[in-house]
Amino acid sequence: MKNTIIKNYIIVGQGLAGTILAQTLLKLGKSIIIIDEPTLSKASKIAAGLYNPVVFKRLVKSWMADELVPYMDYFYRDAEQLLGIQFYFKKQIVRLFAEEQEKTLWLKKTDEPVGKYLSKTIENNFLSDVIYNPLGSANVIDAGNLDTRLFLEKFRAYFKTNNALLEEIFDYTQLKKFENYVSYKNYTADKIIFCEGYETTKNPYFNWLPFKLTKGETITIKILGEHQIDFEKVINKSVFILPIGSGIYKVGATYEWNELNENITEKGRSEMADKLQKVLKIPFEIIDHQAGIRPTVNDRRPLIGLHPQYPTLGVFNGLGTKGVMLAPYFAKQFVNFLENNLPLEKDVDIKRFKINTISF
Ligand SMILES: Cc1cc2nc3c(=O)[nH]c(=O)nc-3n(C[C@H](O)[C@H](O)[C@H](O)COP(=O)(O)OP(=O)(O)OC[C@H]3O[C@@H](n4cnc5c(N)ncnc54)[C@H](O)[C@@H]3O)c2cc1C
Repeated sequence: MKNTIIKNYIIVGQGLAGTILAQTLLKLGKSIIIIDEPTLSKASKIAAGLYNPVVFKRLVKSWMADELVPYMDYFYRDAEQLLGIQFYFKKQIVRLFAEEQEKTLWLKKTDEPVGKYLSKTIENNFLSDVIYNPLGSANVIDAGNLDTRLFLEKFRAYFKTNNALLEEIFDYTQLKKFENYVSYKNYTADKIIFCEGYETTKNPYFNWLPFKLTKGETITIKILGEHQIDFEKVINKSVFILPIGSGIYKVGATYEWNELNENITEKGRSEMADKLQKVLKIPFEIIDHQAGIRPTVNDRRPLIGLHPQYPTLGVFNGLGTKGVMLAPYFAKQFVNFLENNLPLEKDVDIKRFKINTISF
């Protein structure tokens, strides 16, 4: 007979959601065990990891940017100190204007609240020898990226060292629910929190949540020939070009709502290559190509909270296209809800949806 191991929380999934929730709980002195089979979902591992406080379409602040950005800065820098390596970078985003109206709107918006994230002047010659930029550009301040692969790898090693990670597919039939605790194999815990990304659509307790999943592909490129440019800012115009070091750039991303699998496609590759050719004047080679499924939701807000019938079961999901920005702030809010009974933001609480299928 195996000994029972008692933990405060069982967490299923070690993508951005599970990792950041786990670290938030550990910092509070809580004990955890994470159950993760990394090959089930690639989203966090292949994400470009960009964060941008501005929505380009309407040139407004991204939802809750003023709250999310400072806490994200704190969280990732603290994690870098813990793990002794840098994975969080501040990089301005250069927006190349597609039309004159966009430029006029940008200048007008610099005087509005979103203006704190916008550069005040238009640049006319940004890398003009290598980039098509006839209408000029301006920069988003306080943007950047998380090297998600490095972040997840380092945390995985850290959790393993601390006996906090079990590498296996979670078996729902082994979960037992009691009034004040749960048990799974030889573990018991106060609560279990599911952080399974899009795989939650197969979870018998939370498959009623209204996901509207989005597949995405990215490519990685190398600039060819004598054009050894090495720009440090992120370029954005119909695609983003994110420098990841040594003249290598990540480019993306596509959005696909019908073919929901993690396979790379020729269509995705040529869509990104075509868009890139309209921005870059110089030749490039595609050296990698990846695909994943974003856990996007009907109303574009996270899915956080406890099961309406089994309050020892929770979910931390729905990070959609913005996992890097959303996860730290809402992991803290969720932990405050779980541990201190503080309220959850109404917009993220799963209580906003009615459970409509009983499938367990
Ligand atoms: C192409 C692409 C580009 C993106 N770019 C960005 C970007 O630039 N910036 C940004 O902020 N976001 C971006 N995203 C979105 C971002 O990837 C997501 O918001 C985030 O990764 C979601 O994290 P998650 O932990 O909820 O889910 P996931 O990353 O899917 O992680 C879930 C984890 O749980 C494991 N798992 C699932 N079910 C089980 C089970 N039953 N048993 C055991 N393990 C299980 C999975 O294998 C995985 O390890 C992008 C996504 C894609 C696809």
